[in-house]
Amino acid sequence: MSTYRIITYGCQMNERDSETIAGILTERGYRRAGKDEDPDVIVLNTCCVREGAERKIFGKVLELKALKARHPGAIIAVVGCLPQQPGAAESIARKLVHVDIVLGTHNIERIGEAVERVAASRCQFVEVIDHETAPKEGLPSVRAPGVRAWLTVMYGCDNFCSYCIVPYVRGRERSRLPGEIKAEVERLVSGGFKEVVLLGQNVNAYGRTLGTGEDFTTLLRDVDSVKGLARTRFMTSHPRDFTQEMVVAVRDLPTVCEHIHLPVQSGSNTVLERMNRGYTREQYMDLASRIREAMPDSSLTTDIIVGFPGEDEREFADTMDLVKRLEFDAAFTFMYSPRKGTRAAQMPGEVPFSTKKGRISELIKVQNEITQKKNRELAGRVFEVLVEGPSERDPSVMAGRTRQNKMVHFRSDRPPGSLVNIRITSTGTWTLRGEVQE
Ligand code: SAM
Ligand code: SF4
Repeated sequence: MSTYRIITYGCQMNERDSETIAGILTERGYRRAGKDEDPDVIVLNTCCVREGAERKIFGKVLELKALKARHPGAIIAVVGCLPQQPGAAESIARKLVHVDIVLGTHNIERIGEAVERVAASRCQFVEVIDHETAPKEGLPSVRAPGVRAWLTVMYGCDNFCSYCIVPYVRGRERSRLPGEIKAEVERLVSGGFKEVVLLGQNVNAYGRTLGTGEDFTTLLRDVDSVKGLARTRFMTSHPRDFTQEMVVAVRDLPTVCEHIHLPVQSGSNTVLERMNRGYTREQYMDLASRIREAMPDSSLTTDIIVGFPGEDEREFADTMDLVKRLEFDAAFTFMYSPRKGTRAAQMPGEVPFSTKKGRISELIKVQNEITQKKNRELAGRVFEVLVEGPSERDPSVMAGRTRQNKMVHFRSDRPPGSLVNIRITSTGTWTLRGEVQE
């Protein structure tokens, strides 16, 4: 039996797409290659959101020349966001002749056919379509094992934040039909999954393109009503589209977890304006306080970019000030990376790398202190934890998450998928430790 390996870069949407690629290859008779095996087909499902990601992927593609030398029949595929950029697919195919297949984001389901054509002809298969396609239903998938399933509810993004390549490579926003989503949740639950994570680049804009009046709140209600589902999560929310009804729905629906990932990107109004984010620092802070008022036990996490074009000391100080005031549970921090074709890439005022580096270090230091402090406050309290399985780092303990998405390690013989009450005994930056509370 021929084998495949998929290496996924980037966001959870890419993880989900890789499950579809795995499903398609499995249907065609391939099996996942073992850890020490040279696969017959290797698929790199790529990301281009920052230059660092691209560099890493090109490094990996070059490394795969050695695989081709050991196993000349191996098929190498580069798919997804990176080749979807204008001109990128042709350039990959021309300069990296050991790459056999190049597909963009709108036609990854062609992977099965591409592999068979290359196996038969040994010619390159390069196919990128420059317009988005309607959400495709009914594609096979091999889900990553575990208690949590990714579920894409909408594709693309219409926001055009000035720094971001996503709308160009993922196309315009389009939502799946609520009936399809609910049916998928039901299948996942009967397949043993306990938690679903609803995915969209701007998930709380769900429904806008349907024109039926359905929105993210009605979707949350639909999903929450599925019998046997323990938890619903969602990401990523855009602050501008987070309505008060959504706050209330998250508070009231039993399966919907009280964790909101709400990228702020900057604490400066002038930078937010240049980023085309569509909200002010005051509006963001107001939303954060309404979320916390409705759900005092919720967790709030964010994304922040430092070194956006023209970001001066005062603007960066505004970001630091917002971070200190809001005390996020965690923040993903990024140095601005210019992306060809985006508006920000044309903006004056490039921030030197050393300044970006200094700013990100300062931000990470302060945020880590906040995260540690917030976690220390959880010591002694009891939280519902969904058991995921043995911890990767220390298999002698079990790992699971609280509804607030905090990772907890504890000793227990309860199987994965169980809900247990855990009293927190000690805390760190990334994990908490606890013991089962009978
Ligand atoms: N749609 C989501 C949102 O609005 O936050 C996620 C988009 S992106 C895949 C994830 C994060 O990458 C963004 O929130 C932003 O902080 C960061 N990002 C996007 N473009 C970037 C760029 N050009 N340079 C640095 N960070 C970037
Ligand atoms: Fe990119 Fe902004 Fe869309 Fe997020 S909301 S994917 S940051 S354009």
